[in-house]
Amino acid sequence: MKKISFTFLETFVLFTIIFLLVSISYIKNLDNIYTKETTNYIQAEIDIKVENLKESFGILKKDTLYISYIYKLNKNQYILKDEIASLIALKEPYLEVYFLNNDGNKSLDINENNLSQTDDIKNYLDDIKKLKRGEIYLSPIKLLQDRNQIITPNVPYISVITPVYDKYDINDGFLVIEYSLNDIFKLFSYSKFELETLILNNENYILNSKNSKHNFGFVYDKNKTLEYIYKDIYSIIREDFQGTFKNDEHYLNVKDINLTSFMNLNNQIKPLKLKLLSIIDNNIIKNKLYNYLKTIAWIVILYFLIALIISFIFSEYSKREKENKSRLKISNNVFENSHDGIIITNKDNRILQVNKSFTKITGYSEKEILNKTPKILKSSGFHTKQFYKNIWESVNNYNYWEGEITNIKKDGTPYTEELSITKIFSDDDKDDFYYIASFVDITETKKNNKIIEDKLQENKTYLEIINDYLITLKVDINGKILDVSDAFCRICGYSKEEIVGQNHNILKHPDTTRKFYLNIWEKIYSGETWEGEIKNMMKNKDVYYVHAKISPMYNNNTIIGYASVAVDITDKKRIEEMSITDELTQTFNRRYFNSIIQKEILRARRDKKTIGLAILDIDFFKQYNDTYGHIKGDKALIKTANCIKSTINRASDYVFRLGGEEFGVLVTDIDEKNFYLLLEKLRTNIEDLHIEHKSSNLISKELTISIGGIVFNSNNLSAEKAYKQADKTLYKAKENGRNKVFIKNDNINNS
Ligand code: GH3
Ligand code: MG
Ligand code: MG
Repeated sequence: MKKISFTFLETFVLFTIIFLLVSISYIKNLDNIYTKETTNYIQAEIDIKVENLKESFGILKKDTLYISYIYKLNKNQYILKDEIASLIALKEPYLEVYFLNNDGNKSLDINENNLSQTDDIKNYLDDIKKLKRGEIYLSPIKLLQDRNQIITPNVPYISVITPVYDKYDINDGFLVIEYSLNDIFKLFSYSKFELETLILNNENYILNSKNSKHNFGFVYDKNKTLEYIYKDIYSIIREDFQGTFKNDEHYLNVKDINLTSFMNLNNQIKPLKLKLLSIIDNNIIKNKLYNYLKTIAWIVILYFLIALIISFIFSEYSKREKENKSRLKISNNVFENSHDGIIITNKDNRILQVNKSFTKITGYSEKEILNKTPKILKSSGFHTKQFYKNIWESVNNYNYWEGEITNIKKDGTPYTEELSITKIFSDDDKDDFYYIASFVDITETKKNNKIIEDKLQENKTYLEIINDYLITLKVDINGKILDVSDAFCRICGYSKEEIVGQNHNILKHPDTTRKFYLNIWEKIYSGETWEGEIKNMMKNKDVYYVHAKISPMYNNNTIIGYASVAVDITDKKRIEEMSITDELTQTFNRRYFNSIIQKEILRARRDKKTIGLAILDIDFFKQYNDTYGHIKGDKALIKTANCIKSTINRASDYVFRLGGEEFGVLVTDIDEKNFYLLLEKLRTNIEDLHIEHKSSNLISKELTISIGGIVFNSNNLSAEKAYKQADKTLYKAKENGRNKVFIKNDNINNS
């Protein structure tokens, strides 16, 4: 469509340009063209007139010869008269019909009105006698006036003469028909082109005229010759001019006509000649040309006006068409690709169109739902009758409704939509309207909103739980505590106000080494999370244990501190401790000894280090109990244990109560000499406790111990064998008088 209108405009413009060029060249030549056309036209008119003249004379010839033939057939004068009279009765131009004998005297007069003049015929009787059978002589033009007939206007006429024969074919004289030229000349007075055609005889008298200017009608006036009327052209005519001629005032054409030649081919017969002078005022041509130009000018103006209007309408039309098309395309696109479901219904609420989203949401394809009413989507049990009534009242009164509504899908599932219905009126017909319903499925949104609401509620509690139960701590890069949870406050015994703003060292337990903390810091600074157990100290100096996950905190990729999430494992730790600790002496118990010695042997093997194992036994403790009682015995045991613990005090040293009043000491990475010195120091430290032991038989009056030790390479001995050898060495210490330290394979003794 666009292409066609464009081509139309192109063609139109081209056509206009051609039209203009042709018009300009045409107007430039118009004078010539017009003159030429005028000439042609005048010529054509003259030709037609001459043709008519020829035809009239042809008929005249036929009539003449026919009458001469009747003459030949009927010798009886009366019959002949009757026949001819009846024949010519209807022929108006026949003024007279009569016969002459060979002397030129009238032999038979058909009209018998005695008006006929035979005198003048005698003037050309010699010529007539030259006529052969079938030939016709035309007399010079005469006027009825010449015969003293008073007829106004005057009538020019001619005598038409042909020889007649009797039934023996002997020349019997002549037929004469006096023929009025009135009707024929009248032919020349009509012109479509205001052309005046004058007929002149050989003396240049005007035989016809209708020109009111000259006002002499058909009067044959010797004073009103051509010379008198058209002085300016008379000289030309006089000089036997033939053809066309033009001067300032007139345009004219002169043509000689030989009337005789229309009747006969014989040029021996004296001809009757006429001159046709066709004449036209130049002003008439100019006026005609001017009018013609005016018409053309108007046509051009009109053409341009129409062209302008048409182009304007077309450009507007194609512009609007284009706009409408693109608008339609856009609207279609919007309609089809809208996320909203859209239904368009007519005023009878029959569905005309639905879009893709409609199908997606409801499950109905356009084909299935076309021409149905949207009632197909109506749910039951969700809304009251009044609800639907209100919708339609709003749409019909205010042309709009919007709100939430629950409908059903094709498969019966209800869904909630945010719906708007608009009533739209047709541009050209106010009684024609449509409904456009557009909707969004908000079922999911509603569901999600509910979930979010629930979740929010849940999260609130969750955060509370976190705050209540999770031990959390935030610390900045300088170790300043930024925030703690309520659970944290509970475990450490500080209130939030007390602890926030303090350095995290406040939580450090003396047992936890600096190295341990440095290790944690290193990991966090490398961007990793540290996880493990930490022993901390409460406000009241009590111990608590946490299992913590410590992660770096960032701001724009820079570590600004750490956050710790921890679980209280103090109870668990205590139970653990209880299971490995001897309750009375608070040293590790025998079970723990069994597991530790295995681990330490493996570790020493890995580290290629030595282990020192010693077994201690109080001397004559049976007697101590017997002397001081069990309670004092227990106290002495505790004192001894504490003394051992404070002597064997490296982080990697262990002290065990192996049973009764028997203790074990495990030390790593030590040689025999240093082990001996350490044990010897232990022995003297016990002595230095000065625990009275009166019944310690001979050796002392105070409580003493005997120690048997062994230093071994973990590759040589198993845990069991090592224990046995240490025990053997202890036995030797006992045997050798007690209050002694013995090391295996060494002869180091003391007394
Ligand atoms: P020696 O070792 O010097 O050969 O003599 P001894 O008297 O110490 O002999 P032994 O090691 O066999 O005796 C162990 C005694 O230690 C037996 C018991 O009366 C005492 N004893 C063991 N366990 C406890 C305890 O838990 N509390 C108290 N009060 N006495 C204990
Ligand atoms: Mg013992
Ligand atoms: Mg003992």
